[in-house]
Order: sequence, then C-alpha cells, then structure tokens
Amino acid sequence: MSGESPWEVAPPVDGLAGEGLEAEEAEWAAVAPRRISPEQWARFEAHMEEIFTAFGMPVRTPSTADTPRRFLQALFDATSGYEGDEKLVTAFPTECRGGPDCRISQVVEGPIPFFALCEHHSLPFFGTAYVGYIAHEHILGLSKLTRLVRLFARRFSVQERIGQQLADSLQSILAPHGVAVHLEAVHLCTQMRGVRERESRTRTTYWRGTYDSDAQLRSEFFTLCGGRS
Ligand SMILES: [Zn+2]
Ligand SMILES: [Zn+2]
Repeated sequence: MSGESPWEVAPPVDGLAGEGLEAEEAEWAAVAPRRISPEQWARFEAHMEEIFTAFGMPVRTPSTADTPRRFLQALFDATSGYEGDEKLVTAFPTECRGGPDCRISQVVEGPIPFFALCEHHSLPFFGTAYVGYIAHEHILGLSKLTRLVRLFARRFSVQERIGQQLADSLQSILAPHGVAVHLEAVHLCTQMRGVRERESRTRTTYWRGTYDSDAQLRSEFFTLCGGRS
C-alpha cells in the first residue's frame, strides 16, 4: 500500500472508502492465506450435508442442493480476519498540538459496524465500534480504523477480546497519549436461544493511557460516541 492513496490524505468522514477498503482486504490474503484443498472442501461439504439432513433440512432440493457449499463459504468469508496482519495498518504523521498531554486533540471515530462469530457457538454477534484516541504524532483515517476493526472481528472471537486487541494494536500503531475503545453488540447465540431478551446489547469499553486516569476524558468520549458509562 503506498502512502499516496487519496483517502489517506483526506480520509472520508462518513461511510467507508469502499474500493480502497476492498482492495486492502484483498491484500490480506497475501499475508497469511488459509489453504483449504479441494479434497478438504469436498469432505467438509459432505459433513455439512450429513448434519443438515440429520437436523431436518431436505438437502437435495433445487433450493438447498448447494447449501452445504454456500454455508461453508460464508463461514470462511466471515473469518477472513485470520488472513490479515495488523502490522500492515500504518498511521500517518501529524503534529502534536495539545500541549504536554495533547488533551485537546481527542479524536473519536465511529460508529464502525462489525460482524463477528462467537467462538463459543460459532453464531454471529454484531454491532458497532467507537474508537477514541489522544493523538500524539500519528493519526489514523476512518478507513484504516475500519480495516483494523474488521481484522479482529472477522474471526471466531469474543467481544472482550476484540476490544482488547483493538486497544492494544492502536497503542502500538499510533503510540498515542491514550486510547479508548467502545463496542456495542447483539449476540445471536444468547438471543436466538432465549437466554437473554431480544434487543439487549452488550457494551464493553477499554481504556489505555490518559483515559485510565482522567474521568473527564472518559466522559467526553462517551458523549462523543453516544455511549454510556
Ligand atoms: Zn456464544
Ligand atoms: Zn503529544
């Protein structure tokens, strides 16, 4: 990725940098591609057909004949984050204008939508991420933040780990004065099985650096991301 693409110079404020993002995600495949042989795919499809049949799906209808293959492909695509590498996400330089602790330069980006699979049930949980940081000498555009969120979300994971991975990687990519990450998600594994009420959301927040010690900064962050402390 060259440092000259237009959205690096002027990151979009809303929406995603569609083509740029797709192109970057395609790059992930070159980092750590998962290699599934045709023999493995065939075996997996047979297993899925057996499972779907046993569970009641008529699998030889025009509508479902391809379902085992489509299901596996969807699962594979939903976990493409394993092929990426956070080290490919690079920040670009800025000036620290906030005085000794850069307090005035809190940057909050979001909502960044994400979809993940819970590693306990392999069912989706999905929602939005907000990222805040006190920039020092580097900033990160929304496209790259979105890419980072997808990198960690498109795996078998848990919400807590995604938040921690985001906070830790932003810490190392940006070397900022502080990082805040807030995730809100609905978890199908609990909602589909009636364990929790529909509409209930799980909120998790992680702090690093200045946010740890500064309650006012945290409250500003929550106001900016519309979250709740
Ligand atoms: Zn679960
Ligand atoms: Zn600074």
